[in-house]
Amino acid sequence: MAPVTHDIRDLTIIGAGPTGMFAQFYAGMRGATAQLVDALPQLGGQLAALYPEKYIFDVAGFSKVLAKDLVSALADQMRQFNQPVHLGQNVTGLEEADGHFVLVTTEGRFPTRAIIIAAGIGAFSPRKLPQPVAAPWYGRGISDLVLQPSEYHGKEVVIIGGGDSAFDWAAQLAGKAKHVHLVHRSDRFRAHHATVEDVHRAVAAGHASMHTWCELADVASDGERLTGIRIRQVKTKEEKALTVDTVLPMLGFVSDMGALSEWGLTIENDEILVNSQMETGRVGVYAAGDVTTYPGKLKLIACGFAEAATAVNQAVHWIYPEKKVTPGHSSNMAIFGQKDD
Ligand SMILES: Cc1cc2nc3c(=O)[nH]c(=O)nc-3n(C[C@H](O)[C@H](O)[C@H](O)COP(=O)(O)OP(=O)(O)OC[C@H]3O[C@@H](n4cnc5c(N)ncnc54)[C@H](O)[C@@H]3O)c2cc1C
Repeated sequence: MAPVTHDIRDLTIIGAGPTGMFAQFYAGMRGATAQLVDALPQLGGQLAALYPEKYIFDVAGFSKVLAKDLVSALADQMRQFNQPVHLGQNVTGLEEADGHFVLVTTEGRFPTRAIIIAAGIGAFSPRKLPQPVAAPWYGRGISDLVLQPSEYHGKEVVIIGGGDSAFDWAAQLAGKAKHVHLVHRSDRFRAHHATVEDVHRAVAAGHASMHTWCELADVASDGERLTGIRIRQVKTKEEKALTVDTVLPMLGFVSDMGALSEWGLTIENDEILVNSQMETGRVGVYAAGDVTTYPGKLKLIACGFAEAATAVNQAVHWIYPEKKVTPGHSSNMAIFGQKDD
């Protein structure tokens, strides 16, 4: 299918993590047309993909907030301005034509006057199971993104991995799933001690089983869907069959700066060097959030929000010099139905 060419917008924001979502809201508040593009199928960046069920305690205004609830709140805030969001599109190129940029993705072409890169740790995708027998069953019993935990309640679930995500999900689902099997290639875990203890308690209560020094050996199916797996003890080679509804490989993520590293930006250790105006050095291209570096940079959601505001205000002034950098106070803005003091 030929790539779709979209209408020109003032700003195109790469990355729908918390920084990019807040930038999309902020662009609307500044009266700029904007669009948000992300490689993942859902909003939220790391919060949705890596830790949706964890509480965050250091976002201003919340004593604590579940990562997935913060994503929903950001989505509500940004949707006020009804600006387009394009998910499942990896940004692969940047061109310049007729005095503006054209951002190229796997699905389309996005003409834009300026760009804000909020690409976090790059486009990341879950690390796949290394066993070739697993490949045909992704989407048919094997799933590496947990979007709706309740769909695993009452099910036989196998989680493969020994890191934070594997243990977080094992602890979350134990007692709700029919049974949770945690399969790991060694008996050394890279997970938080308290979560490992939670899973040990679930094992003692009969809600979970731990299969250490084991790996996936084979897959059983009814032809349509996976119905079980065989696991192999890596030392003795002994095999065991498990009846299974779902396999959740939690093997971490592979991230890639991809095309962004070819745009003539200064990149140090996969981070884009910016100045205090969030300028990258390439005129019209700004960056914010985890993808950036500068002296004193902190990779925190709170900092990403501030950087998003700076990047949008600077970009709007650069596109429309008659518009001030300083936005004024939202509490006085006509766009929200408020009157000037
Ligand atoms: C387990 C864990 C717990 C954390 N807890 C906290 C906490 O308590 N408090 C806190 O402040 N921070 C916490 N963090 C850090 C926080 O999640 C990050 O600082 C935050 O997610 C950065 O937001 P971002 O929008 O800059 O980037 P990200 O959240 O990484 O989002 C970037 C987005 O850009 C997209 N993208 C990248 N490249 C491309 C491309 N080429 N094409 C299309 N899309 C692309 C990615 O798919 C992704 O969705 C935690 C992180 C982890 C892993």
